[in-house]
Amino acid sequence: MKLSGYTKAILNWYAVNRRDLPWRQTTEPYKVWLSEIMLQQTRVSQGLPYYRNFIKRFPTIRNLAKASEEEVLLQWQGLGYYTRARNLHKCAKKIVSDYGGIFPESFTELKKLPGIGSYTAAAIASICFREPVPVLDGNVYRVLSRLFNIEQDINSTAGNKVFLDLAQALIIDDNPGDFNQAIMEFGALQCIPKNPGCEACTLILSCESYSLKNQLERPVKSSKKKKRNRFFNYLVLGNNKGIFMNQRIKNDIWKGLYDFQLIESDEKITDMMVFLNDQGITKEVEWQIHHIKEYKHVLTHQVIHATFYYIDLNIPINKLLSNSFDNGNFYDFDQIENLPKPVLIDNYLKEGIF
Ligand code: SF4
Repeated sequence: MKLSGYTKAILNWYAVNRRDLPWRQTTEPYKVWLSEIMLQQTRVSQGLPYYRNFIKRFPTIRNLAKASEEEVLLQWQGLGYYTRARNLHKCAKKIVSDYGGIFPESFTELKKLPGIGSYTAAAIASICFREPVPVLDGNVYRVLSRLFNIEQDINSTAGNKVFLDLAQALIIDDNPGDFNQAIMEFGALQCIPKNPGCEACTLILSCESYSLKNQLERPVKSSKKKKRNRFFNYLVLGNNKGIFMNQRIKNDIWKGLYDFQLIESDEKITDMMVFLNDQGITKEVEWQIHHIKEYKHVLTHQVIHATFYYIDLNIPINKLLSNSFDNGNFYDFDQIENLPKPVLIDNYLKEGIF
């Protein structure tokens, strides 16, 4: 089959099978950009309610630029990968301050903006401004690697070029945005990772991987890094009115979000009181741990083993705070509701142990 035959087949498939999603009903760059950032590493079903709430809260790029980072993080809470939200905010401010609130229209200019890499720039440029630049995401890699039985590693520079050239050859000039969305949708619904729908696939007769029966070995990608185990010990210093919380300011996961007094250890601490005594932290005051809760929280590159130690603040604990921990603030529960927090912390609070 000629390359144009693949393009037509994918576009025809898309015309029949595309999902009716809100960001597909517009070519407004603000909405397309938002959906592309939100859906990175996120399932459509998970991202959809966030997208709707976000648009409701920040209907235009100017509304987003005017908001505080904390407000943006609060709207993002639960979606993970919070760097995306911080960059989104930075980018909105830049577009408003440097471009008068109007998105630049070319792939090259878009790529200069914070948080906009090749993928997002290509999506916006092709969907909103009809520039024929191909997108490469996990779905596109999978579809192309199977259709053409590509053996190159998608994580290598050489491999990347092979995919980019092929995608460029397949894209159409008159409606590149449709083609990009079509091939991504085809990967998301038909040519899926584990059980591709080959028997009902419009491209079955032209698919090299299908004839070689190696679909599950495509795409080839170098092995992922092993996840890092981290041990978070949270001292939850609270009473029936509220809790001490800290904003995370270091360049680490959850930057900008709020959590409790954290002691990170190299391994699991078996007895927190002994540990704190050894550190000299408890020497000035008498205090007690009331509840201990453990959670395992799995992120893309790390596993957080979290232990929460609830400590009742009705005991004289101020000295302990001033001498030994970060400068947290006491927040009542209504305020805590409006602080952006990692899902791990939110889940702990929702269990209602207070
Ligand atoms: S035949 Fe199977 S592997 Fe090939 S493109 Fe279709 S769904 Fe994907």
